[in-house]
Amino acid sequence: MPVIQSYKKPYQVDDDYEAILIGSGMGCLAAGAYLAKEGKKVLILERHYTAGGFTHVFKRKGYEWDVGIHYIGDLERENSSMKRMFDYITDGQLKWADMGTVYDRVIIGEEQFEFVKGVSNFKKKILSYFPDEEKAIDAYVDAVFAANKAMGKYYLDKALPNYSSFFLSGVLRKSYLKYSDRSTYEVLKELTSNEKLIKVLTAQYGDYGMTPKQSSFAMHAAVAKHYFNGGYFPIGGASQIVENVLPIIEAAGGTLLISAEVDEVLIDNDQAVGVKMKDGKAFYSKTVISGAGVFNTFQKLIPKATAAKHQLLKKLESVKPSVASGCLYIGLNADVEELNLPKNNLWIFPEEGDHDTCLQKYVENADAEFPLVYVSFPAAKDPSWSERYPGSSTIDVITLLPYENFAAWDGTRWMKRGDQYEAYKEKITQRLLKILFKQLPQIESHLDHYELSTPLSTKHFVNYDRGEIYGLEHSPERYQQKFLKPRTPIKGLYLTGQDIVTAGVGAAMFAGFITAAAITGQNFMKKIFATN
Ligand SMILES: Cc1cc2nc3c(=O)[nH]c(=O)nc-3n(C[C@H](O)[C@H](O)[C@H](O)COP(=O)(O)OP(=O)(O)OC[C@H]3O[C@@H](n4cnc5c(N)ncnc54)[C@H](O)[C@@H]3O)c2cc1C
Repeated sequence: MPVIQSYKKPYQVDDDYEAILIGSGMGCLAAGAYLAKEGKKVLILERHYTAGGFTHVFKRKGYEWDVGIHYIGDLERENSSMKRMFDYITDGQLKWADMGTVYDRVIIGEEQFEFVKGVSNFKKKILSYFPDEEKAIDAYVDAVFAANKAMGKYYLDKALPNYSSFFLSGVLRKSYLKYSDRSTYEVLKELTSNEKLIKVLTAQYGDYGMTPKQSSFAMHAAVAKHYFNGGYFPIGGASQIVENVLPIIEAAGGTLLISAEVDEVLIDNDQAVGVKMKDGKAFYSKTVISGAGVFNTFQKLIPKATAAKHQLLKKLESVKPSVASGCLYIGLNADVEELNLPKNNLWIFPEEGDHDTCLQKYVENADAEFPLVYVSFPAAKDPSWSERYPGSSTIDVITLLPYENFAAWDGTRWMKRGDQYEAYKEKITQRLLKILFKQLPQIESHLDHYELSTPLSTKHFVNYDRGEIYGLEHSPERYQQKFLKPRTPIKGLYLTGQDIVTAGVGAAMFAGFITAAAITGQNFMKKIFATN
């Protein structure tokens, strides 16, 4: 069992860490594990009282919920990069459960559309709903693959030393920018004039939090392809990630401290030399990796004078935070079989209007129909659930909740935000439950526990200021930004996590690998494919 020490209790650390990592999200865990496998001793500092960033789980009233993992793709083959990377950082100990043939079920009014595993099955299934659109469906899948093919060189550029990138970046980025510069809608509209087909094909926009007219096609294509071969869930739940990564970090002498909030990166003459904690204590290392997000890192963790010198705040003007959401965590007093819960996710949309219009209406009026409701069944996805929590099951129901609607309560304390806040949450909860019970009437009498998180919960637990769930928004502009890479202008200070690649557990893990590659100068792909 790995040992997670708390900064708030007596703990044991050393004074010779070769790298300090800020945050214990997937990016830092992956970078930390990779460095540990290179024999480097690392210290991970996490401000929350539990580790894992969005991969953390929480328990209440005899239930357990995963916060930021509902399904992961690209795990069907032993040899896929995704599987190899997970195996590398867990020594193959993390096991995955297949969600089955259907991974996403799209519900628009009374109509249902299944996303099925396997590219040709996917195409056939979508064609069965839109029999006149064969050419468009083929062209869409081709465009998704073409965008993904161009992706590799774009990310290679991020790992290169500055001088190599200076010469090669134009060539390496060019073909991906052709896709990332265009909106998802622009690309799809060129292939079909069928708005219903576009609405269905972009139903997973909640996975990256941006509607088709706003999002970059590069992000849409990355997510769509990621799941083409089905969805997978970690057996034992999301906590298994930390559980299996930490022993690797510990084997090299590394440590993870929770409840350990970093206040500042210590910089001496443009070289990172360590971090100062909220209580003033310092830890020293000439390599500091921040996985706390670029807004936090540049606006809060770097001394103002250093940020100004390198125009870091100016760089942030070209990116925006992604959407905020709320999740209704539900506990049911009957098991998956009794309730006949599916493994696949539900994506529920208003009957009328495209995704952009529905979102716009909702932003203008919070009482308008939810632009999307996502339902996930973790207890059904995890084959170990019935042993761990017999006679019970859980459901997560997520919708977009703009931060602005909660700003009035920002600054209040968690669990003590007042009656008005609770009443507002209850109103949203009842709306979500009504939608859920319409799809699954059999669960209503088994409802045992529920609680709704809001953008303020995300801010409180994971430190994203506006409760944004996916770091930076995935607009075409984001992909243009060269500063979103491991190296910063400050020597020894590196970035990792979703902001330097994209949202997604796999993407954040990949970010960890490119950060480790930037530090070690190694070709990590060679390493992960060299191990059995
Ligand atoms: C509701 C939801 C559902 C999702 N579903 C999926 C899914 O099904 N599949 C998928 O692939 N992805 C999903 N994602 C996305 C995925 O979880 C994230 O993109 C990914 O986990 C982000 O990893 P990260 O490394 O960037 O770090 P994060 O998980 O963002 O962690 C950053 C960590 O840094 C810590 N930190 C911040 N400031 C400090 C400080 N000053 N000192 C110390 N520590 C600090 C935070 O507390 C946090 O633990 C979901 C996300 C959300 C929110």
